[in-house]
Amino acid sequence: MQYFTEMDYSSMMKELLELTRKNEALKLSYIGNTILSRPIPLITIGEGINEKGVLYVATHHATENICTSVILNFIDEYARAYNKNEKICGINARVLFNMRKIYIIPMLNPDGVEYRIHGIENDNPLYERMMKASQGDFSKWNSNARGVDLNHNYDAYFAEYKTIENELQITHGPTKYSGEAPESEPEVSALTSFIRYNIENIGAVLTLHSQGEEFYYKSRGECPKKSEFLAKMIARMTTYKPSSTDGTASYGGLTDWFIKEYDKPSFTLECGKGENPLPVSQIPRIYLNLRELLFTFPILL
Ligand SMILES: [Zn+2]
Repeated sequence: MQYFTEMDYSSMMKELLELTRKNEALKLSYIGNTILSRPIPLITIGEGINEKGVLYVATHHATENICTSVILNFIDEYARAYNKNEKICGINARVLFNMRKIYIIPMLNPDGVEYRIHGIENDNPLYERMMKASQGDFSKWNSNARGVDLNHNYDAYFAEYKTIENELQITHGPTKYSGEAPESEPEVSALTSFIRYNIENIGAVLTLHSQGEEFYYKSRGECPKKSEFLAKMIARMTTYKPSSTDGTASYGGLTDWFIKEYDKPSFTLECGKGENPLPVSQIPRIYLNLRELLFTFPILL
């Protein structure tokens, strides 16, 4: 393990460029740009062209960027094992590489992470609006640059959520606002376009959030057949407990959308325990807890 610190956008990009320069097993590309024109990176590992590839997505929410450091440790460990032709969690890294493709989005919401860590710059065109929306405090900011919660912006039960949102008077701000329309946000639209285009290679999704040491895998109480088996395996491999979403959490998320759209498994993992943003001291515990799952998940499909 080598990433023990908090990642903002530039420190993550520096590490990703370094990792891809040193390791031929890693491919760096971009799925699109954020509202503030930051390219959203994608790391691809593996060459398997089949429906058993997987997609890992970290940091929809800006207070949860500990997940970016966790996933970087996975990318690094995989690349090292590949270079040395070694086994990890019982699987030879090169065999895994040839069999399965793993797509990784280490930080879906860079603009939000930048706001939360560094605040908003006064030449930002959204400055006035977002200062008002945050009341000048970005320490609990989860949304993107214009105050939309990305994990409520997917096209899943969006209209129903609008009713709840209106009742609760949720609007542009740090959390829970779903946006003008499904996929109105460039970050979500970049990811859904990427998924649509590559769906033949994506058999399941794992999305990393924090916190709670639990995971969600049903949408409206329903899930694809395969999900029950995978949920048992996740519960066995990690200390995380299966749970079900309730209240505002059960609308417009990536897991809801992926299940509804493709009837394929998707899991939302709530990493670590405590109050977001979790301290970086939790990175090793979270990574060691999820390590086996991250390496073996594609093989379980
Ligand atoms: Zn989250």
